[in-house]
Formats: sequence, C-alpha cells, structure tokens
Amino acid sequence: MYLKGKHAIVTGGGTGIGLAIARALVAQGAEVTITGRRMDVLKDVAEPGMHPLVMDVTDEAMIRDVTARAVEVRGPVQICVANAGIAEGRKLHKTSSEFWRKIMATNLDGCFYTVRESLQSMITTDWGRVIAVSSIAGLRGSAGAGAYAASKHGVIGMIRSFAEDFMGAPYTFNTICPGYVDTPIVTRNTDSISQRAGVSQQEARDIMISANRHKRLIAPEEVAAAALWLCNPACESVNGTEIAIAGGQV
Ligand code: NDP
Repeated sequence: MYLKGKHAIVTGGGTGIGLAIARALVAQGAEVTITGRRMDVLKDVAEPGMHPLVMDVTDEAMIRDVTARAVEVRGPVQICVANAGIAEGRKLHKTSSEFWRKIMATNLDGCFYTVRESLQSMITTDWGRVIAVSSIAGLRGSAGAGAYAASKHGVIGMIRSFAEDFMGAPYTFNTICPGYVDTPIVTRNTDSISQRAGVSQQEARDIMISANRHKRLIAPEEVAAAALWLCNPACESVNGTEIAIAGGQV
C-alpha cells in the first residue's frame, strides 16, 4: 500500500486504460479522482477509493475549477495521469482544420491543461508523479492519422520538457506509449479501419492484432502496471522518458 494517503487524478478514468490505472492506484491505497465527460459512466465504475467528477479536458476553466474542488476535499494532487484522448484518423487531404483542432484540443491542449493544473498543488508537496498517456503513434508516423500522431508526438515533447524544468525536484514526468490496447477506442478504430480499408470488422481487428508481435491486443492492465511502476518510490530516476507497451511494435 505504498500510495496510501496520496491523491491521484486520472483523466478519462471511467473507461479503458484510465480505469485500469485508477484501479491499480486504488489497490495501492491512493484516493483517485476519476474524470471524464459522462457522470453516468464514471459512477457506474466507481469503487471505494474512486471519486468521480465531470471534467472536459478541452475546457481550461472547467479543469481549473474541478481540480480545485478535488484538491479541497482530498488534498494536493500527487499523481496526475493525463490519459483522456480521442483517436480518430484521416488522411492528409481529408484532414480539415476543424478536425485537426478537435484532435489537438483533446489530446495535446487537454494534456497540457491537466498537468499544469495538477502541478500547482503538487509543488506544495515533497513527492509527485506526472504520467501522460501518448501512443506508439507519438514515437513514429501513423498512416491515415497525422493529426493524432502529431498530438501524441506533442505530448512526448511537452512531458520531456516539463521533466527538464523540474529536474532535481522530487517530481517525475514520464509518458506511456501503448500499442493497440483492448478498449473502447480499439472498438471504434475497428469500425473506422474497416470502412477506410473496405474490409470486414474481423479483418480490421486482425490487422491490429497482427501488428503486435505477440499476436493479440494488449490488456489495459498491462498499461496500468507500467503506470503503477512509475509511481513506485524506487522509480525516482525514471524521469523525462517514454515507456512503450506495444508488443514489440517499437
Ligand atoms: P477510451 O475511449 O476508453 O478512453 C478515452 C477516455 O478519454 C474516455 O474515458 C473518455 O471519457 C475520455 N475523454 C475523451 N475526450 C475527453 C474530453 N474532451 N474530456 C474529458 N475526457 C475525455 O480509450 P483508451 O482507454 O484506449 O484511451 C485512453 C488513452 O490511451 C487515450 O489518450 C488514447 O489516445 C491512448 N491510447 C490508446 C490506445 C489503444 O489502442 N486503446 C493505443 C495508444 C494510445 P468520456 O468520453 O466519458 O469523456
């Protein structure tokens, strides 16, 4: 229970990877504020130790208010998991400016606002962990998903830089880069790949499975294990870097 008494915020904590991370943190004693846009979804999954709050990561003012409310009740945020994201793909010639801004607003701006706000309270404490969820699309190009890849590259550059800003302080900043993880995003991806490539749903899922050298989708719990490891007190020297959980894809 090495996280007992620590307050964590997990954005997108009601589903998929965020929920698995929230559960892993709770199992180690943390009090976890889980956020997302849908209270019904958050309430449905909340277990003891999880505290749901509605927070849209594209809304800077809402992030400020909601974080302040959570801090008031549970104390400074010492673990910030900026996980909320959307994965939609379009080829360059079909990428409208509006589509580009939508992806950036959630994946990059949302991550920035979340981390900045949590940090305000973290720096009043003597221990903190910032973990952003990027993607292997943040480490290399991604066919048909330039905006998504750009947003996830941005997350990595931003978190590496924040780590530099605070190097030597008792806070770490790292990014996790998953491959295809079995979550609602992959289900939605299946639809979009199947439409784009003109293949069946099963064939689309097989494309994602075969990208992984273990020939399977990754479980959200595997990503959560990495997040939990980064929160281990022994991990202070892991700072300003990326961990790929990608079945050998990178
Ligand atoms: P999910 O769709 O289950 O999770 C996305 C979460 O983000 C949801 O809980 C959603 O909640 C939340 N969210 C989306 N937009 C907003 C917003 N504007 N404000 C607040 N919350 C928002 O999929 P995953 O768990 O897979 O995705 C989690 C992260 O992992 C994402 O950043 C994704 O890019 C990344 N990732 C996922 C991979 C995969 O294969 N699954 C691979 C690589 C990276 P709600 O809709 O209720 O607001």
